[in-house]
Amino acid sequence: MCGIFGILCPSRKDVAKHTYFALYSLQHRGQESCGIAATDGTSLMIQRSMGLVSSAFSERELQELYGYAALGHVRYSTTGRPSIENAQPLKMRYKGGTFALAHNGNIVNVKELREQVYSLGISPYTSSDTELMGHLIARNFQDDFKSTLANVCKGFIGAYSLVFLTEEEIYAIRDPWGFRPLCMGSYEDGFVISSETCAFDIIGARFIKEISPGEMVRIHRNGYEVDQILEPQGNFLCSFEYIYFARPDSVVMGKRLYEVRKRFGELLAEESPVDADIVVSIPDSGTPAAIGFAQRCKIPFNEVFIKNRYVGRTFIQPTKELRERGVRLKLNPISELVRGKRVVVVDDSIVRGTTSKEIVKMLWECEPKEIHFRVSSPMVSHPCFYGIDTASRGELLASKMNVEQIREFLCVNSLAYLSTKSTIEAIGIEYPCLACFGADYPTYIPSEEVREKYVLEKNEK
Ligand code: SF4
Repeated sequence: MCGIFGILCPSRKDVAKHTYFALYSLQHRGQESCGIAATDGTSLMIQRSMGLVSSAFSERELQELYGYAALGHVRYSTTGRPSIENAQPLKMRYKGGTFALAHNGNIVNVKELREQVYSLGISPYTSSDTELMGHLIARNFQDDFKSTLANVCKGFIGAYSLVFLTEEEIYAIRDPWGFRPLCMGSYEDGFVISSETCAFDIIGARFIKEISPGEMVRIHRNGYEVDQILEPQGNFLCSFEYIYFARPDSVVMGKRLYEVRKRFGELLAEESPVDADIVVSIPDSGTPAAIGFAQRCKIPFNEVFIKNRYVGRTFIQPTKELRERGVRLKLNPISELVRGKRVVVVDDSIVRGTTSKEIVKMLWECEPKEIHFRVSSPMVSHPCFYGIDTASRGELLASKMNVEQIREFLCVNSLAYLSTKSTIEAIGIEYPCLACFGADYPTYIPSEEVREKYVLEKNEK
């Protein structure tokens, strides 16, 4: 998963700074590396760094990224290891000049794309799927980006929200399945593109539209054009964006995510009510659902777990050991709020179960009378191939255990998940992607040998 932000504003020369602040607001989408590319109309400059946006750029570096258009990226790897080579935006040469490229998503047919790149006589210098797409677009460039993307992107299978910055213009395209969000807005005399609307709010931009599956937007000095260049294959927006990943203050498909998450909680309370004294959330992504649950059940909600806000999200740290240690670093309960009480804990999801088990253990140490666990999403039983590193199938708790076994494993009095039907109802899209909950994958999925994150490193020629 990654975050992208693009801006073109003819009257300004300092849009790299706007990009910097926009990336700040998209930091939750990736913390491994980040980068900004900028153009003054004649040449592209790029600055990339490992780590968080706050420590990646100095004031001087931002001033050197001088120009009226810029492209920023925060990365969380799903294909290719975290490294400076894999940091984005990537710089590519093509027959029209140079472009910088930023990608959110994950390509399923990477092996096939790599063979195509090799057959062009190119040895990729990174291990990411983004570089492969960049080479194929650069090498097969025809007369313009519109015809090139319409032709080349047909061969990409999987999730790709792509934004290009040339010396003069910005192009944005969303895959025909619409896995990852991408929207556009206006800012002063120009336009912006972002993975999430929260980046618009931080710079004062105004939302215009979601980029539809298969649509391309071209932004230039005199305005913008929208073209449907690929045939849409549906609207399989990732339901995990609603459940966990995107920020609650972002608006996706016309819905504020805070409200969607609260609705998950209300529906969960209707499906699986509990007679209890207190509802507790796992901050931050479980909180709106816990509030919705508490209101519907008429049980008081209380903030019991205090979050250390200077520790990253445990779900996306790379090893099991780090995740286990991370839970206690991150959350600490206020014991007297739950002592002797019947407690309902609401969390947004259970993936590997490590975090949930640790949370329940911490809660029992506070001596409650009962603990009831409620999950505001269905059971995650299948891996994701579209850009969220949920884990391989063997690591997913729900792929090995049923609800009763998970209840025993967590050591709670009762356990219930939100149904797929209610998930769809709250999201409000007819067919969002629900593949990791055991529903069908919207595309073909890779064979075992190419399922791993580092496939392009292992099989390098
Ligand atoms: S498989 Fe799950 S995490 Fe991946 S895109 Fe689909 S809903 Fe999102």
